[in-house]
Amino acid sequence: MNRAILTKIVLTHMLLFASIVSAHEEEHEEHGHHDAHEKEEEHAGHRHHDAHEHGRASLNILLDDKTVNVELTTPALNVLGFEHAPKTDEQEAKVREAGQVLSRYDSVLTFPGAKCTQSDSYMELPFDEHDSDDDHAHDEKDSHSDYYVTYSVTCDRADKLKQIEVQLFKQFPGFENIDIQWASNSSSGSLTATSGQNKFNLE
Ligand SMILES: [Zn+2]
Repeated sequence: MNRAILTKIVLTHMLLFASIVSAHEEEHEEHGHHDAHEKEEEHAGHRHHDAHEHGRASLNILLDDKTVNVELTTPALNVLGFEHAPKTDEQEAKVREAGQVLSRYDSVLTFPGAKCTQSDSYMELPFDEHDSDDDHAHDEKDSHSDYYVTYSVTCDRADKLKQIEVQLFKQFPGFENIDIQWASNSSSGSLTATSGQNKFNLE
């Protein structure tokens, strides 16, 4: 597979993902309201649907000749233990800390035996940190929220990477199942990783 085709796949994938995320946000707006007192016990009353399930996350991995592109979408609950804008100093600290951890690709996954460095990353926070009190519509929408993070990682011969180890389970206790889709120049696959089954071979 040549570079142009792979780039096209990456772009198609990103666009597909963008449409899933935006459909998800619309659904949130439709379902809308969550009472304020639900905020700490969202888990119990959570309405499950494909794009946002507590404990679950999706990870897309595309391996080019020298670059690995990684895309993570996860409910904020998995990372923070809550999904509303931070209201206490402790919650603010948690958001800051989580942002630092998630800014590094090796908090998400590693490539055992390979030498890799992060060349780029992008993060969409689950909520606006500068939340204004007069914006009620915004507050309601925040009853469920996701982190969306992408990384570009440069490895020596990324096309020769053999194994991936998912690190999110060690970093955050809220992850249970991570749905992974990966593609390289020669192969592709999908699987669900768990804390007990967090390594897989790219073949
Ligand atoms: Zn949620």
